[in-house]
Amino acid sequence: MGESNRTLGKHAIVIGGSIGGLLIARVLRSHFEQVTIIERDSFSTNYEPRKGVPQGRNVHVIFGGGVRVINRLFPGFFDELAKTGSIVCDFSKDLCWYHGGVWKARPKSDLISYWQSRPFLESNILRRLKSDTNIRILEKCAVTGFLSSPDQSRITGVEIRGSEGADTREELVADLVVDAGGRGSQTPVWLELIGYERPAETTVEVNIGYASRIYEPSHDPSRDWQIMAQYGTPPTSKRTGYIFPIEGGRWLVSQVGFLRDNPPDDDEGYLEFARSMELPDFYNAIKDAKPLSPISTFKFPANRWRRYDRLSRFPTGLLVIGDAISTFNPVYGQGMSVCALEVDELRQLLEQCQGSTAISAELAKTFFRKAARIIETPWMLATQSDFLYPETSGKRPLHTNVLNWYLLRMLQLCSGNERIVRTFYEVLHFMKKPTAFFHPLVLFPVLARGLGFKTSYEPSKQRPCVTESSEVA
Ligand SMILES: Cc1cc2nc3c(=O)[nH]c(=O)nc-3n(C[C@H](O)[C@H](O)[C@H](O)COP(=O)(O)OP(=O)(O)OC[C@H]3O[C@@H](n4cnc5c(N)ncnc54)[C@H](O)[C@@H]3O)c2cc1C
Repeated sequence: MGESNRTLGKHAIVIGGSIGGLLIARVLRSHFEQVTIIERDSFSTNYEPRKGVPQGRNVHVIFGGGVRVINRLFPGFFDELAKTGSIVCDFSKDLCWYHGGVWKARPKSDLISYWQSRPFLESNILRRLKSDTNIRILEKCAVTGFLSSPDQSRITGVEIRGSEGADTREELVADLVVDAGGRGSQTPVWLELIGYERPAETTVEVNIGYASRIYEPSHDPSRDWQIMAQYGTPPTSKRTGYIFPIEGGRWLVSQVGFLRDNPPDDDEGYLEFARSMELPDFYNAIKDAKPLSPISTFKFPANRWRRYDRLSRFPTGLLVIGDAISTFNPVYGQGMSVCALEVDELRQLLEQCQGSTAISAELAKTFFRKAARIIETPWMLATQSDFLYPETSGKRPLHTNVLNWYLLRMLQLCSGNERIVRTFYEVLHFMKKPTAFFHPLVLFPVLARGLGFKTSYEPSKQRPCVTESSEVA
């Protein structure tokens, strides 16, 4: 879209320069004469994690839905990443995933996935964004509040302050402000200050602890996988381990404990935690690998969804995106992809506004409604699984027990039924809606298993070998 189409206003402001902020800025630059990203941190120059995105030290998977959006915004992005360090894998064949008490089957597939550290991904998006001449980036600068019109019906800009002690205050005027400030977003507070209600929040508390470390992989000629995820089986086992390949031929390893069963950050305790897991595979894989970094820890208290879609009043000229709306238990790896899908939704909405000369009062309402539809699936997948632990606290939807009965049996059939594995992955990658879980070819084997009939795919704890895909289109 060319400069002549930048009709929606002179200036748009984005709060936060992480994945959500960078992607949305790329969309806005086609509709506004200038876009300013305001970021509290300074950006890392050497692919190191930064303070404002502390989760960046832990494993980060990006699913197909997210990859598709980023490739659309930055053509050829992941091909380029693969040439400069990302590891390209077949998500089905190269992943060894123990989940729901079984290892999933590993049929060869066309589910291409890209593996890298979070800072590597984000820094490369930033690099591509820097070639946009109408995007300005203010680093070490924090947004401290909104400016609004005298009747408070419209957000007209933001107040900013140097984030490193400098007590310089400034006001920046804008036609649109997008809050991509992550889970610590202050929009609810700032809205209240100008007479709006805060959005209601739904929370499901899981108290997860992460401990992560970079390794040089051990030499093992028999290794036939690239990624390992070994989940503890609820309700007794709370310990999970991940091995993700990242740029530089290294492994990023994260260990996770549910419900305050946090992994330790000392060398011995770290290995002991791995050894205590339900199966020995994860421990055996890391025990001879060479640590290349200290162990860093991170705590995640709760899934949280701020229901902006349910507010009856909202000011014109303001939007909220990404973790600022919803955060999910990170063990399911959905956050960045959800963020990207929301950006894509907004892209489509703004394209429909083409020719308009201002942001309409309806935009936020429509966007929040569409974002809620995107969030529903990952929210359901994350919180349903969390409720398999009885200590998880939060309001359990009425269907929780029935759905979990079904999902558990479906997961168990993933050990042999390639169609079910494929369906599970397609939903995970945002390629299909979760209604696919109830397709007759999934439903009947699951019900048969649930009713005690012997199925042709019996669950197994044996780590599977790669198979040629035999079915599914
Ligand atoms: C341990 C862990 C593991 C995860 N693993 C995965 C995974 O495997 N896959 C996945 O997809 N997702 C994962 N996630 C989720 C993912 O990290 C988030 O969904 C994603 O980072 C959200 O991006 P965002 O841009 O909305 O917010 P954030 O990444 O949180 O960024 C917010 C940005 O805003 C800036 N900021 C905040 N307030 C202000 C302000 N007032 N002024 C200026 N700047 C401000 C911050 O400095 C920061 O740069 C994980 C999360 C955690 C905690």
